[in-house]
Amino acid sequence: MWNVWLLKPGELTLKGENRKSFEGILKSNLQRLMAKIENRIKIKFTMGRYYIEAPQEKSEEVENVLSRLIGISGWAKTFSCEKTKEAVFSACVELGKNLYKSGVKTFKINARRTDKSFPLTSYELCCLAANEITAETCELKVDIHNPDDVINIEIREKAFVYSSGKKGIGGLPVGCAGRGMLLLSGGIDSPVAGFLMACRGMTIDAVHFHAYPYTSIESKQKVIRLAETTSLYCMGINLYILNFTQVQMKIKKNAPEEWVTVLLRMAMMEAALKAAQKTKCKCLITGESLSQVASQTIENLSCTQNRISLPVLRPLIGFNKEAIIKEAKRIGTFNTSIEPHQDCCTLFVPPHPVLRGNVAEANKLYEALELEGLIEEALQGYELVKCN
Ligand code: ATP
Ligand code: MG
Repeated sequence: MWNVWLLKPGELTLKGENRKSFEGILKSNLQRLMAKIENRIKIKFTMGRYYIEAPQEKSEEVENVLSRLIGISGWAKTFSCEKTKEAVFSACVELGKNLYKSGVKTFKINARRTDKSFPLTSYELCCLAANEITAETCELKVDIHNPDDVINIEIREKAFVYSSGKKGIGGLPVGCAGRGMLLLSGGIDSPVAGFLMACRGMTIDAVHFHAYPYTSIESKQKVIRLAETTSLYCMGINLYILNFTQVQMKIKKNAPEEWVTVLLRMAMMEAALKAAQKTKCKCLITGESLSQVASQTIENLSCTQNRISLPVLRPLIGFNKEAIIKEAKRIGTFNTSIEPHQDCCTLFVPPHPVLRGNVAEANKLYEALELEGLIEEALQGYELVKCN
C-alpha cells in the first residue's frame, strides 16, 4: 500500500516574483532527500501543492525527513481515494477513528471542491461527512468553534482527506540565499547559528580550527558529528578542518597575554575569509552572542571583524544562552556539544582578557605578529569532510 503526504509550503507563498524559483529549489531538495530513502517515491507538484507518494513501510523515514525539511510549515498524511461519496466518507471515518485513538475528542470539517462536478456542495459534504464520523465513533463530537483537530476534505484530481497534521520547520528552502561560511566550534552556539542561517535559505559550508596535538582527536570527531547533525537540515555541509596549532603558538608566544583570545579570533576570521573566497561564500557566520564572554563585547567584536571584507552574520547576537540551548536541543546537537572535549579557544584563555579592545591597537598587534604565512599553511593543509 502507498501513502500520500500533502506538504504546506512555508514562507514561499509570500515571495511574489521569486516564488517560482524557490519552488523549484524546494522540489529539488525534496527529490534529493527522498531518493536517499527509496527511488520509487514520487513527488508531485500541482496547483501550488506538493504531494509525496511513498510505500507505507517507508512512512517513518519519510516523516523523519519532513520533520527536518526547511521550507515547509507542515505536512499531513492523507487518505487519497476515488471521487465518490462512499469512498470519501469511508476515508473520513477511518481518519476519525485514528484521531480518536490519538486522544482527539472534538473535530470540525473543512471541505473544498476544486472539481465542481462532484455531486455535493462543500457545505453538504461537511454535514454528511460529520454525520458519518459521529455515527461510527460516538465519542467523537463536532465543535466548530474550538475543535481539537480539523478534518480536511479536498476534491481535486482525486479526493484527499487529512487532519491538521504536523508542524514543520518553516523558513525558506536551502539554496535560495547564497552560500555562507560557518565558523564551527565544538560548543553549543555555532551549530545553532548555522541552522538558523539555513532556515533563511542559505547553503552552509563550515570551517573548524583545531590545535592537535594540544586538542584531542576526539574533539575533532565531535565537531564532525556536530556538522553531520546540522547537515541533516542544511542539505549537506562541506566541513573544512584546519590545523591552527602554529598560528596559535605564535600568538601565545609573542602577543600580550590579555590580547591572546581577540588576536586568535582575528586570525580565525582571516583564515575563514580566505576559505570563504575560495568556496564562493558570500559571508561568514559565527555563533557569537553579545556579552556572552569577554571576546564578545561590542568593542571586541569590532576588533575581530574589522579586517574582514565580507559581511559577518551573527544570528544569535541577541539570544540568551537559555534560548540557544532550547534550539540546540530541538535540532539535536545539544548532547554532542556538551561532551567535555577541549576546543582550541579554551587552550590558552588569559586570566584577565582585554574587555574593550581598541581596533587600532588590535590591528597593530595583529600586524606585528605576521601570521600570513602560517595562516596560508593552515589553509593549504585543509582536510575536507563532506557531511550529507
Ligand atoms: P560556540 O563555540 O558554539 O559559540 P562557545 O560559546 O563555547 O560555543 P565561543 O568561544 O563563544 O564558543 O566562540 C564564539 C564563536 O567563534 C563560535 O560560535 C564560533 O563561531 C567561533 N569559533 C570559536 N572557536 C572556534 C573553532 N575552534 N573553530 C571554528 N570556529 C570557532
Ligand atoms: Mg559562544
